[in-house]
Amino acid sequence: MAKKEKKEIIEKKEKKYISIRTFLTICIVSLIVFSLFGFFLGIMYFYGRRSSVELLNTTENRTKYLVDELQKSDMVIDTPLLSYIEEAAYLSEGRIMVISDRYQIMTDTRKLQDGNYIVHEDVMDVMAGRKTNIRVIRNKFAEIILPVKNEEGRIRGVVVFTSSTRSISSRYQYLLRRALVIFGILMLVDFILLNIITRKSVRGVQDMSRQLNKVAKGHVLEKAPEKGFREMRQLTKNYNAMVDVLQSVDSSRQEFVSNVSHELKTPITSMKVLSEALLQNENTTVEEFRDFMTDIVSEVDRETDIINDLLTLVKTDRQDPVMNYSEVNIGELLEAVIKTVTPLAARRNIEISYESYRDVVADVDQVKLTLAVSNIIENAVKYNVDSGWIKVSLNSDHRFFYIKVADSGVGIPDDAKDKVFDRFYRVDKARSRDTGGTGLGLSITRSIIHSHNGTIRLYSESGQGTTFSLRIPLKKEESV
Ligand code: ADP
Repeated sequence: MAKKEKKEIIEKKEKKYISIRTFLTICIVSLIVFSLFGFFLGIMYFYGRRSSVELLNTTENRTKYLVDELQKSDMVIDTPLLSYIEEAAYLSEGRIMVISDRYQIMTDTRKLQDGNYIVHEDVMDVMAGRKTNIRVIRNKFAEIILPVKNEEGRIRGVVVFTSSTRSISSRYQYLLRRALVIFGILMLVDFILLNIITRKSVRGVQDMSRQLNKVAKGHVLEKAPEKGFREMRQLTKNYNAMVDVLQSVDSSRQEFVSNVSHELKTPITSMKVLSEALLQNENTTVEEFRDFMTDIVSEVDRETDIINDLLTLVKTDRQDPVMNYSEVNIGELLEAVIKTVTPLAARRNIEISYESYRDVVADVDQVKLTLAVSNIIENAVKYNVDSGWIKVSLNSDHRFFYIKVADSGVGIPDDAKDKVFDRFYRVDKARSRDTGGTGLGLSITRSIIHSHNGTIRLYSESGQGTTFSLRIPLKKEESV
């Protein structure tokens, strides 16, 4: 598949997922619409209710006044009362009916039913005293029905007063229209502000994404400026810390590769020089030939040593090295190592003593720990003075065992103490080379001790000798 097509497919896939901006916009718009709309609806609802109650109260007061007047006149409607009724009905845009106790309509402001008899459930209920009054909003009218009683309390008739709700609803409509306009304007402003806010809040994420994309495409690792919101600053800080780590890994890898190449090249160069000398000299004697060949073989051995050490380092320096734990008697392990080193020490009259304060059995990888201890004790021989001494000791407490290797050798200068564990570092290159050193021994040793969750320390004074001190957990699961 072409690269472009692949890119398009990936972009299409990405578009399936909602972006933070869209998500934030949808959420905030929903919240605004929900709360603003709810707010307006609530206000309109209560406004409508309040207006209805007020209309009913006004209508009821007017009806009560009329009822009082009718009581006073004992249901006789004279001209002034009739004009009051006409005016009240006109002002209320409604209708007033006065009904006698025989259900005959005495006055109807609409003049529709004057003199007729009325059969209306509410009127009958009030007239019969089943209900004291009627107060209701019905068919866009506020309706009040009140009884007219004489002094003995007998019902002499009823007044039906209806007022139109038209004025309320037109005010209501007006307010609703205005509210919707304000709502629309507010929404528009909110939308513009929201656009700016969401754009700003995701800018940091977009910048970081661009930065990471550049790294993924193989651009040079670059730190990003810490700016914007607190979370973004934190993210950038973490990213920059990662860049630091990657840069140091990268530079130590480069350094390692260049060291390896250099170390491997040295014996090859020697072999080339020796071989060319042999080729150029036509009268080489068998003796000379043997001499040269011995040197070449020793360079091959050296090359093999470096490669073997490199392979060991690769195995032990992994993040999760394969560890073959078993219960090992550490005293016996040390004695075995000392035994193999003793002939080497004897050649230079170096005395090795061993002291064990208690029996120690621990969970360790026997092969790896043997290699680590051998490196240290061999170094104590290699960097010792003739007729010097080496003291090896073993001790333990309830959690750890301790191995100490002290020598009377040349010691390590202060500025080299941290570096001796680095790959290929040697204080005295010539001496290390003469004694067959590759500069990898202590790196391997430290890796092995770390794989056992242990620590390695060194105490030394130049010209005064060196002591390596190891602390390793007795049990495999014990961490330091
Ligand atoms: P090498 O193969 O050169 O011995 P190592 O990694 O074992 O490499 O040691 C690194 C360097 O540390 C040695 O070259 C030497 O200079 C120094 N060193 C290690 N052990 C001792 C010691 N016991 N006394 C003095 N110098 C030491």
